[in-house]
Amino acid sequence: MHKDCKEILVSGEAITKRCEELGAQISKDYAGKELILVGLLKGSVPFLAELSKHIDIDVYFDYMDVSSYDGVMSGNIAVLTDLTQDVAGKHILIIEDILDTGKTLSTVMDLLKERDAASVEICTMLDKKEGRQVDIQAKYVGFDVPNVFVIGYGLDFNQKYRNLPYVGILKEECYM
Ligand code: 5GP
Ligand code: MG
Repeated sequence: MHKDCKEILVSGEAITKRCEELGAQISKDYAGKELILVGLLKGSVPFLAELSKHIDIDVYFDYMDVSSYDGVMSGNIAVLTDLTQDVAGKHILIIEDILDTGKTLSTVMDLLKERDAASVEICTMLDKKEGRQVDIQAKYVGFDVPNVFVIGYGLDFNQKYRNLPYVGILKEECYM
């Protein structure tokens, strides 16, 4: 375990196993439909990579870079990188590392709905339901997590720790 990590909350093996279940469900739910997996950069990349391996219908990848999360406070939201394709009439599944206040994803959902996507849903690796400030729900959730600051499997603190192969709790002394 990394020295800045207090505790492992979700192991890499547990994430893989959950991705098998989610992938099977997504494959069933979107059978016969044109599905675009929209990964939110940068945190969703490891989860998107794992999850997509367990989806056995044809899917397309695209990415958006929205917002900034400076330190441990949820802050301003801006679109930094946009999709590379027209999504009108397509089904979109937004892939996110963690759903916290919900501000980021509600903004992204509104934006994509305006572009006349056939449907826009969310698949989040982690759901911090206690943190919610906006009324928004993910259709697919990997794991519910308590209101603690987590790192790893894509999740960063000041751009660090994204490469950890598990989700862990960051030691308080690292951001105090
Ligand atoms: P929301 O708009 O839902 O508050 O923010 C979601 C984003 O905030 C996530 O994509 C992530 O970048 C960041 N975030 C929220 N909670 C955590 C956390 O516990 N750890 C890390 N590393 N990022 C978090
Ligand atoms: Mg993020």
